Amino acid sequence: MSRVGIVGAGQLGRMMALAGYPLNIRCHFLDRSADAPAAQVAPILLGGLEDPAKLRQLAHGSDVLTFDWENVPAAALKKLRGQVTIRPSVRSLSVSQDRLLEKRLFSQLRIPVAPHAAINSLADLVRAGRELGPHGVLKTRRLGYDGKGQAVIRTVREQSPAWETLRGTPLIYERFMPFSHEVSLVAVRAPRGEIRFYPLTRNTHQGGILRLSIAPHIDPGLEGRARTYMRRVLKALGYVGVMAIEFFVVDGKLIANEMAPRVHNSGHWTIEGCPSSQFENHLRAICALPLGATHALGHAAMINFIGKMPDPKRLLQIEGLAFHDYGKQPRPARKLGHCTILSATAALRDRALKRALKQIQWA
Ligand code: AMP
Repeated sequence: MSRVGIVGAGQLGRMMALAGYPLNIRCHFLDRSADAPAAQVAPILLGGLEDPAKLRQLAHGSDVLTFDWENVPAAALKKLRGQVTIRPSVRSLSVSQDRLLEKRLFSQLRIPVAPHAAINSLADLVRAGRELGPHGVLKTRRLGYDGKGQAVIRTVREQSPAWETLRGTPLIYERFMPFSHEVSLVAVRAPRGEIRFYPLTRNTHQGGILRLSIAPHIDPGLEGRARTYMRRVLKALGYVGVMAIEFFVVDGKLIANEMAPRVHNSGHWTIEGCPSSQFENHLRAICALPLGATHALGHAAMINFIGKMPDPKRLLQIEGLAFHDYGKQPRPARKLGHCTILSATAALRDRALKRALKQIQWA
């Protein structure tokens, strides 16, 4: 039996714990909330994610420590390094917590990114607008997720209101990427360096939140490129575990948007869609077990339930649909669950997807 301590007990942790049971990998969590999604399926220590005593207690009961959220305070984890193995490394976590550091790493590794500038004043933003173009996205460098901490700027006039909304923390301005679509790649790296890739996934966002993923997205040229970029990042960080990189596709080329040092929403379809899910493979990697197969078993679509849960009785009538409820209280723009459709052909998948989408309202 392996004991895995997980900092953060959200839905990603919950799905990890569930994937661990057949392997007799026992996950336990640290989180502030007693009814967090993972706390409903596995033991939890109640406390702040940066609480040194609680973190030590979690580490004490664990063979390896991981996290289900990339905004876990890196400094607090760093203090545990002598006590327990932390996978992925604290360095991987630190880089991905700061959009500027992340883009620097991508650029050093010859991975294209959107033209961007660090913004610490309105004057910086005005200059960046002049140099990079007035159509862009202003984002907080840290602690942004699901479209939070972002403002799209279309004209020079919108610069000042965007600055007023987000000021007070270091920011980054990126040129708006006129992408045809967005894709992501999820991969897993074992401690000895073996890497396995899941099929490329096509993603649709609205308001900065992922709504829909379709996989496999069949484009061998793009997939090959994405794998090359992923391999560079994983090797440079000496990474262990699952990582996701999200890309914009602009004129048929990949532009890296961001990386997640953890299991990722665009990989949820792998639970039903692959022999070993991203959750299982993350656990296998961090526990130094052999990695599982990552090929697609069929054609999958994943729809997020956001703000409002759909009626399971209606959705479950759809053949090949799996329903996931994270046990969360509904709130606007909150990810509450998802469903995955797995079909033998893309045409059958698309037909089932159309039916499912009729049942889902995003709030
Ligand atoms: P992020 O939080 O960076 O993943 O952004 C969330 C979503 O906002 C992305 O998936 C895109 O749909 C959109 N977005 C973010 N940055 C840009 C950009 N520079 N150009 C165009 N769209 C963007």
